Amino acid sequence: MAALAAEGTARGLATTRACALWGLDAQLVRVEVDVAPGLPSMHVVGLADAAIREARERVRSAVRNSGFEFPLRRITVNLAPADRRKEGTGFDLAIAVGVLRASGQLQSTADPLLVAELALDGSLRPVRGCLPRVAAAAARGVDEVVVSRENASEAAAVDTLAVRAARTLREVVAHLDSTAPIVGEPAAPLGEDTSGGEVDFADIAGQASARRALEIAAAGGHNVLLVGPPGTGKTLLARAFPGILPAFTPRERFEASVVHSVAGLLGPDRPLLAARPYRAPHHTLSAYALVGGASPPRPGEVSLAHRGALFLDELPEYPAAALEALREPLEDGRITISRAGAAATYPARTILVAAMNPCACGFFGDAERECRCLPEQVARYRARISGPLLDRIDLRVGVPRVQAAALRSVSAEPSHAIRERVEGARRAARARGVLANAELPLSALRRWSRLSDQTHALLELAVAKDRLSSRGYHRVIRVARTIADLESSAEIAELHLAEALSLRREL
Ligand SMILES: [Zn+2]
Repeated sequence: MAALAAEGTARGLATTRACALWGLDAQLVRVEVDVAPGLPSMHVVGLADAAIREARERVRSAVRNSGFEFPLRRITVNLAPADRRKEGTGFDLAIAVGVLRASGQLQSTADPLLVAELALDGSLRPVRGCLPRVAAAAARGVDEVVVSRENASEAAAVDTLAVRAARTLREVVAHLDSTAPIVGEPAAPLGEDTSGGEVDFADIAGQASARRALEIAAAGGHNVLLVGPPGTGKTLLARAFPGILPAFTPRERFEASVVHSVAGLLGPDRPLLAARPYRAPHHTLSAYALVGGASPPRPGEVSLAHRGALFLDELPEYPAAALEALREPLEDGRITISRAGAAATYPARTILVAAMNPCACGFFGDAERECRCLPEQVARYRARISGPLLDRIDLRVGVPRVQAAALRSVSAEPSHAIRERVEGARRAARARGVLANAELPLSALRRWSRLSDQTHALLELAVAKDRLSSRGYHRVIRVARTIADLESSAEIAELHLAEALSLRREL
């Protein structure tokens, strides 16, 4: 071990590199460590949160328990730039290495990105958000990163820099001073896209309208609401939905994986998501859990479903605050949450698949059982889905009780056949510069969705008759664009628009 620089008067200054994460926003940080004469103390400055300030205790113990000396002097740690908020435990390793360097116990000038939490015994622990931190560092030209073993495969998903996985602080020091270099991790194998539904559409009898609506939803990224009495297979249809989503493109897979990394949901055996996410949170969840939080920043279910699907069963049972909070992500494909002076933005480009009963008792309009609700009770039940939320649900479809005769027919189309048409429609959308028609900005929508005079007249009629909002107006054209794409039609015909309008109307 290198001797401590002479006790008492010597002053040491050193820097290391770390990466701060706020929401999904990763930024390289210079960790400056100043060891100066004075009463033994350690201060962390630079807009650090409580978890970072607690790094003092972890770093002190980890350094001592690794066989090094913790300088009994005045230590100041600055995280630069100081004007950005920083949170979490991912700075521990960079601070510890900085302390060793500033106190003369580590001579090397090697300057990799250091991303790990320290345990009191000096072992390295994984951190949330390793993937976006490493990706951001690689994009800024960093060529080496040191992480814990648990984070190794996640970091290695970024193949443009060398990933060194260490178990302990001692191993990191031995690597940096070249006494025992750590060999690089092999690039993480991304594996096959295993997207698929647990249920195949071939096993679902009848329900032609619901199947059609789900196909359109998958093809264009549109939101869908299934309405029907209990026991008619709404949940089954929703569970089959992932099986008709198009293949996960590398870009989408990376985007979705970043959100899961930040939530701490990736692991050694799962460096990137293998399949499009399918989230089905229970209706007891809070608005915070559904859309995420800002302080500390955490993505919610709607963001964990980014580039996949979000299934909300029994939609009216969700807390009103949670449902209202869905409006922004369903409209913009992302959500910004501000709380206590902090703000965080997460992507949330997901397909909402919602299901509900037609009334509180569940049997309004059912052929077999009588509804026990008064008309005003039915109205009150449906009003739990506010107008603005409903406006963002493009496709509303009834899921009635299937007659016995239909249950016997077993010739339903399998998921893979539907998925092929979905892929075709997605190819058409990509040719317009988006991943799905639901993302078409207005300028592109105008360009790619010219309507004949006759079709336009039909739309104007609907505006008057259905009191279509301006949002609804554009959403219905996007859906018509998808319906035309499913038939490989360059033009939106009257029939396509008529179907889009009828799917928007039914409830
Ligand atoms: Zn009822």
